[in-house]
Amino acid sequence: MITGSIADRHKRVMPMPKKAVFDGGLISLTRNWTLKLDNLSDANEPKVQELSRVWKEKYRLSSEPANDGGRILWSIDSKLEKEAYTIRIREGQIALTAGSIRGIQYGMQTLWQLSPDGKPPQGIVEDRPSLGMRGFHINFDSYRQMDIGEALYAMEKAAEMKLNTLLIEYSNRFPFAKNKDLAVNTTLKEEDIQKINRKAKELDMEIIPLQQTIGHLEYMVTLDGYQSIRENGDSPAQICPLNPESFRVVTGLLDQMIEAHPGIRYIHLGGDEARSLGRCPACKEKVKNLGISRLYVDYMNSLCEYVLSRGLTPIIWDDMLCAHPEALDMLDKRTVIMYWDYWTVGNPSPYFIARYDRNGKPVQVADERWKDLWKDELSDLEASVMKTFIRPVNLKESLSKKFMDLYGGYFGDEFPKRVKAYPYIEFYMDKGFQVIGAPTCLGNGDDFHTLPNYWRFIPNIKTAAERCAVAGTLGMITTAWYNYHPLMFHLGIGATAQFSWGV
Ligand SMILES: [Zn+2]
Repeated sequence: MITGSIADRHKRVMPMPKKAVFDGGLISLTRNWTLKLDNLSDANEPKVQELSRVWKEKYRLSSEPANDGGRILWSIDSKLEKEAYTIRIREGQIALTAGSIRGIQYGMQTLWQLSPDGKPPQGIVEDRPSLGMRGFHINFDSYRQMDIGEALYAMEKAAEMKLNTLLIEYSNRFPFAKNKDLAVNTTLKEEDIQKINRKAKELDMEIIPLQQTIGHLEYMVTLDGYQSIRENGDSPAQICPLNPESFRVVTGLLDQMIEAHPGIRYIHLGGDEARSLGRCPACKEKVKNLGISRLYVDYMNSLCEYVLSRGLTPIIWDDMLCAHPEALDMLDKRTVIMYWDYWTVGNPSPYFIARYDRNGKPVQVADERWKDLWKDELSDLEASVMKTFIRPVNLKESLSKKFMDLYGGYFGDEFPKRVKAYPYIEFYMDKGFQVIGAPTCLGNGDDFHTLPNYWRFIPNIKTAAERCAVAGTLGMITTAWYNYHPLMFHLGIGATAQFSWGV
């Protein structure tokens, strides 16, 4: 009984290590234990020094080796992947070997979760992540209640669970010094942005700022100062992609965003749900001559080129490209596509997003036989999602030949009954793009006993992570929307950590 519980110790570590074998009793770190750095060429680096100071203090380790004391031994093995680590726990010694300092930190976090009291079980832990980029979305735009303290706290907790990437969406909560008219009462201070940068550096976490560049600019196009770039003078959220002033205003916002986050590698240009494309006379004319896809892709390309010239890799949401793929081949291949789907809860799935009509709006569809013939084969959750979000249709009649020619090959052998989860990952990759998967931990409407619908979100995150790992995407970032209390977001961080690390 006792042995059994020791053997299972790792199952409560978040994220759960890939392999752990505990074959002995518990050991005990006492005050006589020391921390030794072996084979660490950068042992004198401030980062390593700081890391060793933190862990010495946490475990109350001695600074002087004692005869009767044991030791924690850190070493780097360049043959290991950067974030991989191995811990060998024996009486008198815990040997932690990792591919990098970050891996050392991850190994110590695992050791801490196994036993903060310094009584870990003897045995071995061998661990490595399934996905390189493991991220979450701090969405100041949606989380109007989230203040800087909550954001920093979420970053710390996420890093403790080995997440390494933070997508930050600010909208009008970013302190745009050159667009002061955008500010509202919840706009962050400049020093808050510096706090985020410092925290990310301390946690070895990559920041990806998000600045919308065409749609979802409600906060801007409704203000007097931006009426000249508002699409058709009346779009609720979109600027006109053909107005040269739009490019000037948007790159002005991007400049401020980039300058506020020194050292970033990526910037997310948004680009989703641009639902007013082709309304003004000039845009209408371009759509007539070259198509809606060209209107969108030409504009996004100009922005991609702008940020690429500043040494950054652009990321854009996939939905407009998927709905209007005609000019996709013209999109700069250095652009990373971030693919969102918040309904899929298993692989294969009885339903999928067919982004083929309604002016770029995603449409969730299923074969109509799910209504009667196959009804009993649905899980309770699938049945619930179907009822709330999915349109059962005659897929053969509903999906055009053009659509099927393009995407049909990616739907898997069971189509039309079931569709491979996140089917467009390979489509985008075959087109030469890198992909980031985007499930959600708070999004799209329904609830679960009045709480956010974790019943759907957790398998949505799991399914996305598994597909991203198999397909070899850059990684996965879980999105979060809506103005819930910020604490409601933390279960999503845990689920993202668990599944993007890969159990
Ligand atoms: Zn226009």
